Amino acid sequence: MVQPESLRILGEDWAVIWLGIGAADERAHTDGEKRTIVMGPHAGREDLLHEVIHAIEFSYNLDIDHTELQIVARGIWAICKDNPEFLEYLEND
Ligand SMILES: [Zn+2]
Repeated sequence: MVQPESLRILGEDWAVIWLGIGAADERAHTDGEKRTIVMGPHAGREDLLHEVIHAIEFSYNLDIDHTELQIVARGIWAICKDNPEFLEYLEND
């Protein structure tokens, strides 16, 4: 599956930028003002889910405790990994 270069999040297009190794700042982060998610060279799918939740946080003007956000992201990720048929079910809406 190809890494997405953009995502539609709550009615807005967000860019997803994938950094290469050696970038000045290799951490994944989300820039709500620029509607951009930046993925570090070591970031993967679970990290993207985490950043998407940050995008939702920004879009709804929330201030979610970061530890709780991490836990929710890990929980959703674990449920998706444990239940691939659940994702298929959601896809076929
Ligand atoms: Zn975060």
